[in-house]
Amino acid sequence: MKFDLHTHHDRCGHAIGSMEDYIKAAVSYGLQAIGVSDHSPFFASQEDRAKPRIAMAKSEFSNYVQEVLKLKEIYQDQIEVLLGVESDFFPGQIGLYQRQFEKYPFDYIIGSVHYTGGMRSIFLKENWEGLSETDYLREKEAYYSLVQEAAKSKAFDILGHIDAIKARCPHFSQVKTDIVDQTLKMIADCDTVIEVNTSGKTKDCGGWYPAGEILERACFYGVKVTFGSDAHEPERVADDWEKVRQFLKNVGYKEWAIFRKRKRKFLPL
Ligand SMILES: [Zn+2]
Ligand SMILES: [Zn+2]
Repeated sequence: MKFDLHTHHDRCGHAIGSMEDYIKAAVSYGLQAIGVSDHSPFFASQEDRAKPRIAMAKSEFSNYVQEVLKLKEIYQDQIEVLLGVESDFFPGQIGLYQRQFEKYPFDYIIGSVHYTGGMRSIFLKENWEGLSETDYLREKEAYYSLVQEAAKSKAFDILGHIDAIKARCPHFSQVKTDIVDQTLKMIADCDTVIEVNTSGKTKDCGGWYPAGEILERACFYGVKVTFGSDAHEPERVADDWEKVRQFLKNVGYKEWAIFRKRKRKFLPL
């Protein structure tokens, strides 16, 4: 079964194409299921739309859900449309986020760390320029500590792009620390699924999140996986799906997960 659980659309302010454009692309690429998983609004913000180029307004969230549910019906004979969301993870705000998500019939929630140290974006190159090796180590460990907290919160079905701190600063992959393995063990203990997210290829780091060697160790520790292209343009739906499937089989994985109504189901690779 061909599927993609991580897609965006123009509602977030930085993706191209409508929600329906992504569904049509998925149909044309032969997918049986597509998950719509746009960025969560900044629920804790005073403003309705705190960052117009990053995420939808708080007041738009119910319209988002209604559009997914409408397209789910319209396309039911062609493809299964799943209701997801890519939630930011801010420790301390998780209860607020969960209360928003509980109002709607989500199939799954992706939890992603996009900010460290409060509101410092991991995707801004200048945040990582000119650091000492000690700083890089500290920042990498701070990032993975947040990924661990996201797993421990049990608020998420899927953890998004777990080594994305490398996106605009590939050097992070070379910074040696045990925290990556500790994080994988913790994710396995929490029984949370990670995604193989193929959008690393659109950033400076290239390749996938997480990198192949991390996926091999994830398999060793028993971390379960799913697939997401993180498409911000319709053409990228299911990008590298077959390559990921082959890679996962080669490193020892037997199955990957999809979600309906927040219940996980494993499909053979
Ligand atoms: Zn995005
Ligand atoms: Zn993300």
